[in-house]
Amino acid sequence: MFDKILLAVDGSEHALHAARIAAEMARGMKPKEFRVVVSYDIIPIYLGEPNLQFAIDSRKKDAEEVLSTALKEIGELPCEIHTELLEGDPATAIIDVANVRKSEIIIMGSRGLGRLAGLVLGSTSQKVVAHAPCPVLIVR
Ligand code: ATP
Ligand code: MG
Repeated sequence: MFDKILLAVDGSEHALHAARIAAEMARGMKPKEFRVVVSYDIIPIYLGEPNLQFAIDSRKKDAEEVLSTALKEIGELPCEIHTELLEGDPATAIIDVANVRKSEIIIMGSRGLGRLAGLVLGSTSQKVVAHAPCPVLIVR
């Protein structure tokens, strides 16, 4: 039904739960491609060198670890798996990837790494639901 699945992960248990559901869906649906997106915060330019490069490298490394943990959770799929690591606001990054790659469904957690315990739906999920170009599955 959905040939191009986009999964967004941020290193939270919620996102890993979404990853398991997305992988099960992909095993049943046999899509053409499965894409995993993670974004990391923009580093303020005023940090200056060498701190700027150090900060960029460290955030990229963290984001790569988030991706590799998610890939382990996903396991083997009957389709190509792509990964995207982007800098900037996560909701904007997810929506941009969905537009450029023509994703047919976005799968993400209801909450993420944010610390506001009472929140029902995190701000990234809210923004993606509001502006996505395709259906969005919010996993609880
Ligand atoms: P907030 O960020 O508003 O404090 P939160 O962190 O609890 O709240 P969200 O950020 O909305 O909630 O996270 C919900 C889902 O959005 C996550 O489970 C994940 O699927 C996705 N997500 C959040 N941040 C990122 C990110 N940096 N990169 C990719 N996906 C993300
Ligand atoms: Mg968040």
